Amino acid sequence: MTTSPPIVAVYPGSFDPVTLGHEDVARRTLRVCDRLVVAVAESSSQSKRHLFEVPERLEIMREVFAGDPGIECVSFSGLLVDFAREMGARFIVRGLRAVSDFEYEFQMAQMNRELWDAAETVFLAPDVPYSFLSASLVREVASLGGDVTSFVSPPVHERLRRRFG
Ligand code: ADP
Repeated sequence: MTTSPPIVAVYPGSFDPVTLGHEDVARRTLRVCDRLVVAVAESSSQSKRHLFEVPERLEIMREVFAGDPGIECVSFSGLLVDFAREMGARFIVRGLRAVSDFEYEFQMAQMNRELWDAAETVFLAPDVPYSFLSASLVREVASLGGDVTSFVSPPVHERLRRRFG
């Protein structure tokens, strides 16, 4: 009997912080792969204004995904395709919310294919309640004292409460 190698996918992003939308996409991905690497891009945190440093984002994500044995959280720097190759990934996963996500995501997918043709980018739509949700909106609402409990898991909520009171 031959056993096929596990199907690995990489889900890259800034996850600053990880939201229920990200969680939904990650868990849906596990329906079509054996192992998911949720990967925090270190480079994107240099260009964008960020809330949590990468190590704290990872610490939060590991708490959030602690009950999902197929999911591991790591950070990476440099080209995504190089990282995906290192991980032995067959898929790069991205979430698609509205049409506004499409143009950027499509450009990225084409560029990544030029750089490394062996990985396919797959797009997953989140469950409807999360289709408007973004990490930047969560940061903004939390910083203004708004209630974000329906958008993030308890470990994230706790960190936001500590940060913003
Ligand atoms: P954000 O855009 O919220 O700052 P990231 O840069 O961390 O988040 O996004 C990583 C990936 O997750 C991107 O493909 C993004 O489109 C996707 N994503 C983010 N939030 C959601 C959501 N609510 N539903 C589906 N996909 C999402």
